[in-house]
Amino acid sequence: MKYEMVIGLEIHVELGTKSKIFCSCSTQFGNKPNTNVCPVCLGMPGVLPVLNEKVAEYAVKAGLSLNCEIAKFSKLDRKNYFYPDLPKAYQVSQYDLPLCIGGYLDVSVGEETTRVGITRIHIEEDAGKLVHTQDGTLIDYNRCGVPLIEIVTEPDIRSAEQAVEFAKSVRNILLYAKVSDCKMQEGSMRFDVNLSVREQGAKQFGTRTEMKNLSSFKMLQKAIEYEYARQVKAVKNGERIIQQTRRWDETNNVSVVLRSKENAHDYRYFPEPDLLPVVLNDEVINSIKTSMPEMPKEKKQRYISQLSLSEYDAGVLTANSQLCEFYENILKEFNDAKTAANWVIVELMALINKSDTSIEEIKITASSMAQLLNFIKDGKISGKMAKDVLLEMFETGSSEDEIVKSKGLSQISDAGELEKIIDEILKNNQASVNDYHLGKKQAMGFLVGQVMRATKGAANPQSVNEILNKKLNN
Ligand code: ADP
Ligand code: MG
Ligand code: ZN
Repeated sequence: MKYEMVIGLEIHVELGTKSKIFCSCSTQFGNKPNTNVCPVCLGMPGVLPVLNEKVAEYAVKAGLSLNCEIAKFSKLDRKNYFYPDLPKAYQVSQYDLPLCIGGYLDVSVGEETTRVGITRIHIEEDAGKLVHTQDGTLIDYNRCGVPLIEIVTEPDIRSAEQAVEFAKSVRNILLYAKVSDCKMQEGSMRFDVNLSVREQGAKQFGTRTEMKNLSSFKMLQKAIEYEYARQVKAVKNGERIIQQTRRWDETNNVSVVLRSKENAHDYRYFPEPDLLPVVLNDEVINSIKTSMPEMPKEKKQRYISQLSLSEYDAGVLTANSQLCEFYENILKEFNDAKTAANWVIVELMALINKSDTSIEEIKITASSMAQLLNFIKDGKISGKMAKDVLLEMFETGSSEDEIVKSKGLSQISDAGELEKIIDEILKNNQASVNDYHLGKKQAMGFLVGQVMRATKGAANPQSVNEILNKKLNN
């Protein structure tokens, strides 16, 4: 019997606003514990929260970028639970009337494209962070009240690869929309996986488990594979899957039970009495819409139609907002889009992949890379030399100019390239060639001069002499 996996994701993303959702405390990550706090985010009695307008704006941007409908009327609710990371003993979230509904994203794995429905996106506040030490548990409330959106998908995902592709795609889109830095290592983006299995072809869904707080794509992939195998094994043994919340144990690569699954009624949701509902009209929504930057899908189409890039190249570039930005910055100073795409995708990406860094971390600037490409275009250095220069730029962070000068590359000394130029000169100067063979050795000087002229003085004279000598005396 074959079993199919069914997955729905819940993705928490911290919004990149400067201040928290209901107070003016900073959202800065990494500050000294409990310094970004005030009576509001500490939930002192008698305080009144006020919604940060930017939170609504960023959440609307996220919704629009994921093809959601934006609700003109949404409200905030209290989700009650008692845990020390939550000083108020409730989290302000949205229950029955979320800000965004009914979106989708198309995800491609191999040849197959699947539409994954997005049920809703709501806004809520983050909780504090517990730090477990040998002497006990410490609490840092800096994160308390940092604005979050929660993106909930339909149970439309059918494999770990699809889940990871979906997650990557959401991250890329939110980076383009500039609503979050999506730094997974800082907890700005976290995934919960709801997973069930069913016999291939079955219509009914099986009972699901939920795995909380997966914080990287690798963890997401591994956790899904493990949980699928665990459930299939259980079902094959005739066991019943119990709906529960599980935790991924990163050290041992297993999922372990946290608690039996809570239901909505366990949280005693009720409308937040201290906050006004979020009311938006068409004008506001449209003005946010027009302020949105170009999204990867449109950008890809434009790269193909305007820049004549191949579908593949356009796809690779736009799949990574930072790579794309780098590429576009090159184009500000170098005007051959196809060549630039080729150098970024083939040469630069090879260096990045080999060294296991990412485009944000590299020492090469887009401007420097543009100049390097201009060097090739102007015949100052050969393509082959440029690859060596690029490698050195990548490793040392020196500029293209410094490297070309220090290596004495500002001349064409690449034999293959010079030979081509010299063959052309010889063909066009038959008279001088004949003179040379008739014993007029000064004809050689004339031919060298022609080569230097053709290369705008960039040819290495010694190499030119050698090659000319060889060719004339052959
Ligand atoms: P809750 O509010 O209890 O978390 P939801 O109905 O909101 O439950 O669903 C949460 C997530 O679980 C959604 O992403 C949804 O797609 C997913 N989901 C629901 N049923 C299943 C199932 N049988 N198998 C896998 N995922 C499911
Ligand atoms: Mg849920
Ligand atoms: Zn505060």
